Amino acid sequence: MAFRSATWRGTYFLYHQTQYVVMAKPYSAVNLNLVAQQSQTYDAIVIGSGISGGWAAKELCEKGLQTLVLERGRNVEHIKDYPTAMTPPWELKHRNRLTHEVAEANPIVSKCYAFGESTEHFFVKDNEHPYVQEKPFDWIRGYQVGGKSLMWARMTQRWSNHDFEANAKDGFGADWPIRYDDIAPWYAHVERFAGISGNKDGLPQLPDGEFLPPFEMNCVEKDFKENLARAFPGRHLIHGRQANLSVPHMGRGHCQARNLCHRGCPFSGYFSSNSATLPAATATGNMTLRPHSVVHSIIYDETLGRATGVRVVDAQTKEMTEFYAQIIFVNASTVNTTLILLNSTSNRFPNGLGNDHEVLGHYLMAHNYRARLFAEVEGYEGDYYYGRRPGGPYLVRFRNFGDDHHPDFVRGYSYSFSAFRGQGMVTEEDEPIGAAFKEKMSRPGPWRVGLTGMGECLPYYDNKITLSPDQTDDWGMPLVVFDGEWKDNEDRMTQDILDEGEAMLEAGGFKNIRRIDNQQAMGLDIHEMGTARMGRDPETSMLNAFNQIHSVPNVFVTDGSCMASTACQNPSITYMALTARAADHAVNGLKARNL
Ligand SMILES: Cc1cc2nc3c(=O)[nH]c(=O)nc-3n(C[C@H](O)[C@H](O)[C@H](O)COP(=O)(O)OP(=O)(O)OC[C@H]3O[C@@H](n4cnc5c(N)ncnc54)[C@H](O)[C@@H]3O)c2cc1C
Repeated sequence: MAFRSATWRGTYFLYHQTQYVVMAKPYSAVNLNLVAQQSQTYDAIVIGSGISGGWAAKELCEKGLQTLVLERGRNVEHIKDYPTAMTPPWELKHRNRLTHEVAEANPIVSKCYAFGESTEHFFVKDNEHPYVQEKPFDWIRGYQVGGKSLMWARMTQRWSNHDFEANAKDGFGADWPIRYDDIAPWYAHVERFAGISGNKDGLPQLPDGEFLPPFEMNCVEKDFKENLARAFPGRHLIHGRQANLSVPHMGRGHCQARNLCHRGCPFSGYFSSNSATLPAATATGNMTLRPHSVVHSIIYDETLGRATGVRVVDAQTKEMTEFYAQIIFVNASTVNTTLILLNSTSNRFPNGLGNDHEVLGHYLMAHNYRARLFAEVEGYEGDYYYGRRPGGPYLVRFRNFGDDHHPDFVRGYSYSFSAFRGQGMVTEEDEPIGAAFKEKMSRPGPWRVGLTGMGECLPYYDNKITLSPDQTDDWGMPLVVFDGEWKDNEDRMTQDILDEGEAMLEAGGFKNIRRIDNQQAMGLDIHEMGTARMGRDPETSMLNAFNQIHSVPNVFVTDGSCMASTACQNPSITYMALTARAADHAVNGLKARNL
């Protein structure tokens, strides 16, 4: 049922605001404040317009709530603001390479494979938004309407019940307050709208979803799939599950297999806030999108015992404004969400909103992408493939699942795999010039394969973020201090990812296998999670089963900060599902007037 939003909004506004101002102000001030406050008052506020914020906006607007979306970055209009989407390499000044100047000025973000001449306008530059690294953490960000949904790699796998039970079963971490059955309908809900290509594989550790047809594997990948299954029964190479449209879907065009997604897609061929959720929210007429709005903190009213709004610094003028709403969704991305909560202090919450038990900021997690393997492929010279398919096959978790128990570490890992042919010119030394160069470029090079592990990381109390006591950014926000590192479990798992990866590549018949532990720090995976985790016990967690702050239930936190463990699947589809589920709960709570 859709609300008539004007009536809905008016009733709630008067109900709560009257209680509030009558207690707090003399009569003449009441009228003035009511008028000023009313124009700044919405049913819901969403902080951040990236993957999770876009979903919050869509769901809340579609359910009839007047929703203000506050985004710290500039507006990025779908298609219009993708300046390089159709630019061929020869029209890019540096042929899509980073100059030394840019790389040196950005030692952190330039480590990210997707940061290049054609995409740099979507990434936060190191010197514009500094932070403190007590221990190394590569914090990769996108501050604009759409957030990182513009640049993500779109791999999307559901979690299984095994993942939601893991903390309770092995005792590392707080028990999740939900199980797979709680979230399964919401995975389906978001998959149907986002458009996920994939195959139904019937694996208990990786539940199937509502899929569009998968992108095809090439001949080397197909053969590896078979060889793997023969050599290692129970190990599965499956089609990647991917938020790229293999067929037209809900008004969006299908993926053209250009593999230029990080520039923004003019065909709407991949899921982003800009191409999908924000247009849906706009279509309702209920969304107000306010770019250049840096949320400084959440306002907590001690008399009412609830959050009443947010303080916003205008990114350009630096002026502070306040906005009010009945419910607030915090979707600024893991670390920024926790920054906002830590910065939201009051007499009731001197250590940050809802932070009664020193949980906020702790249990920072990431995915361990340190282990990489490469190999050469013999044969297949007569075979090629058409187009540049997005993503690639996925090698499903087998470790510490079912009857498998590794003696040295808990939890598991998965791999992404791909086989590809480059161009004829393969090494710098090999580089000819003139006609020889052209001739070599026009011939396909040898086949190669790559295998990248994605390992689960445990939640450790002392992996944390805090706020700098004395350093602030240009908008008056304290700088974030990172203090997290891989520990023994992750180190031992890395070895196993390499050992098993090598064994599997050997079984595939590949040659000259190279294995690398690149020792990359936390953060470069761009799957930062935790720091405001969900849980059953308010003493050991921040959020309940519907992502509400235990002690401030009209504040919902549904981005990666809510995660109580990481599993070894890409995380964003889970943020989307949790967000849609929480939005549904919020609206039901408002209807029932118990929120
Ligand atoms: C290159 C790359 C590849 C990736 N690949 C994958 C993948 O394959 N699969 C996967 O699951 N995930 C992937 N990710 C991660 C994925 O992008 C994130 O998990 C996801 O975007 C997180 O969604 P979010 O809403 O929490 O944050 P974001 O999408 O980052 O959005 C947060 C928004 O909040 C805004 N904001 C921040 N602070 C404030 C403030 N104080 N006030 C107002 N607004 C604020 C930001 O500007 C931003 O727009 C990848 C990321 C990158 C960069």
